[in-house]
Amino acid sequence: MKLILLGPPGAGKGTQAKRIERDYGLVQLSTGDMLRAAVAAGTEVGRQAGEVMAAGRLVPDEIVVSIIGERIVLPDCAKGFILDGFPRTVAQAESLDRLLAEKERRIDRVIEIAVDVAALVERISGRFSCTRCGAAYHDRFNRPQVEGVCDVCGGAEFTRRQDDNADTVAARLKAYREETAPLLPYYAARGVLRSVDGMADIDEVTRQLRSAIDGSGDN
Ligand code: ADP
Ligand code: ADP
Ligand code: ZN
Repeated sequence: MKLILLGPPGAGKGTQAKRIERDYGLVQLSTGDMLRAAVAAGTEVGRQAGEVMAAGRLVPDEIVVSIIGERIVLPDCAKGFILDGFPRTVAQAESLDRLLAEKERRIDRVIEIAVDVAALVERISGRFSCTRCGAAYHDRFNRPQVEGVCDVCGGAEFTRRQDDNADTVAARLKAYREETAPLLPYYAARGVLRSVDGMADIDEVTRQLRSAIDGSGDN
C-alpha cells in the first residue's frame, strides 16, 4: 500500500500518519521531519534547506525528490509507505510517478484531509511534539493523558517547531494554495483521490481514513 496524505500545514497529516503507520505496518515518510533532521545535523542538504524552511517557502524540488528517491528503496518500505508532506508540487508528483514506474509500482491512494483555513493558525500555533518519538500534541485539542508525559513512549521532553509562528504560517498557507492544491485535480484525474473531513475530532478522522484505505486495491 502506497499512500499519500494531502492537506495544508496543520491539517493533521502527521498525527494521522503516525496512527495509520501503527495500524497497517506502513512507514511514515515525512519530508518535513527529514529536512529538520538534516538541518539539525548540519548536512549540506540542511544548509540549503534551513533558511527556506524558516521563511515558510518550499525547498527546491530536486532536493526533496532526491531525499524521497533514496528513502523509498530501503527495505523497510517494502510493505508500503505513507507520504506525509510530499509531493507538494506537480513537478514532485511527476517525479514520484516516474520513480515508482521504474519499479512497476504506483500510488494506490491519495487522501485529502480537508480543513477550514480559519482553523489552521490555531492548530499550528498550539502544536508541540514528543522529542523522543515525534508524537504530535496540541495545547487545546490533544494534550497528553498524563501532563508532561508522552502517551506513546513515556518521554518527558517536548519541542515546538521554529516555523510554527503566525508570520511563517501565512507564507506556508500561500505556498499550499499556489503550489500544492493543484495536486488535487492531478490525482483526481487518476481516480485515486479520496477526501476525509479534517475538521472532525482526531479519532473520527482516523475512522474515515481507515475506510478510505480499506476500500482501495493494493499493488
Ligand atoms: P500537519 O502534519 O498536517 O501539519 P499535525 O498532524 O501536526 O498537522 O497537526 C497540527 C496540530 O493540530 C497538532 O498540534 C495536532 O495535535 C492538532 N490536530 C491534528 N488533528 C486534529 C483534529 N482533527 N482536531 C483538532 N486538532 C488536531
Ligand atoms: P507542515 O505540514 O506543517 O507544513 P512539514 O513538516 O511538512 O510542515 O514541512 C515543513 C517545511 O519543510 C515546509 O514549510 C517546507 O519549507 C519544507 N518541506 C517539507 N516537505 C517539502 C516538500 N515536499 N517540498 C518542498 N518543501 C518541503
Ligand atoms: Zn513520545
